[in-house]
Amino acid sequence: MSANNQIVVTGGAGYIGSHTVVELVNAGYEPIIIDDFRNSKEWIIDRLNDITNQSLKVYTVDCTSQTDIDKVFADNKGIVGVIHFAAYKAVGESVAEPVMYYENNITSMCVVLNAMKKFNVEQLVFSSSCTVYGEPDNPIVDEHTPIQKAESPYGATKIACEQLAQFAVQSGQALKICLLRYFNPIGAHPSGKIGELPQGIPNNLVPYITQTVKGIREKLTVFGDDYNTADGTCIRDYIHVVDLADAHVKALNWLAKQSSSVCEPFNLGTGKGSSVLEIIHTFENVNQVKVNYQIGDRRPGDVEQIWANAAKANNVLNWHCKYTMADALKHSWNWEQNIEA
Ligand code: UDP
Repeated sequence: MSANNQIVVTGGAGYIGSHTVVELVNAGYEPIIIDDFRNSKEWIIDRLNDITNQSLKVYTVDCTSQTDIDKVFADNKGIVGVIHFAAYKAVGESVAEPVMYYENNITSMCVVLNAMKKFNVEQLVFSSSCTVYGEPDNPIVDEHTPIQKAESPYGATKIACEQLAQFAVQSGQALKICLLRYFNPIGAHPSGKIGELPQGIPNNLVPYITQTVKGIREKLTVFGDDYNTADGTCIRDYIHVVDLADAHVKALNWLAKQSSSVCEPFNLGTGKGSSVLEIIHTFENVNQVKVNYQIGDRRPGDVEQIWANAAKANNVLNWHCKYTMADALKHSWNWEQNIEA
């Protein structure tokens, strides 16, 4: 049955991975999900089957196992590309567990590259992050903005994997790679069936807001209002997760058209910065709710302001955001109300 349209999606049950699976199906690809559900739930697959009206192929394996990953490639004859999401992603946790972060995030990247070499798969889309830019001199960053020394083991693994991708291409392995540098993904699928599932107390702003409004958390703390910004709170580029997912499909389409080896970074953001208070107040307005919040101390390590110049992804990948920040906040709240405990 396999045409040459299979895409391996590591971490395909995760937040960005699951939304990307939907967009892949919409675009006519056949996703093959690899996830061991350590940071997701198996019922996300039921929801994905429901949204896509398919019975998706899932392998419950650890991406650091070369044997298990090779088996996925051996079993499926139509694999043309890999989207590699599977990784640990919490900055604070990475500071406490640096070895665990390096071991998992770097090993899985090596395993993916090894399997691609063995099975002659050329297209790779790698999940990177704007964290590679650290605290930039100019808040608007494009892909020429220098990569900075990592401030956390998490950031270090993203930089290391990007470098490994570059070296693998330079080594002569037939590879075409997009390094997608995400800004701040928020929102959920408009159906309300999939979305972000933080484990324990959320680190990120929007899930903390939705849990506070739902009554799971008592109060949101805004980390500092004495920054050098219009309202004193930090500025980020918040992008709807479905738009982000769509960029992965556009990246694969672009890679398929490249005639020789390539490794290109792309910023994925809306190109617009929003402050923490703007997010809170927009959330209140679009959802007609109150967010209980207080101003607290700055969070160590937070960058004051950063947003994307996403012109390269817009022009080269022909990718454009369809959703607004307000849409995303509406969808996040809709999802929070749909999560079954
Ligand atoms: N933030 C906040 N309270 C929270 C969580 C986050 O004020 O409980 C702020 C944080 O200081 C930052 C912004 O929200 O300015 C986005 O933080 P998040 O952790 O979501 O993303 P990142 O730090 O990776 O940009």
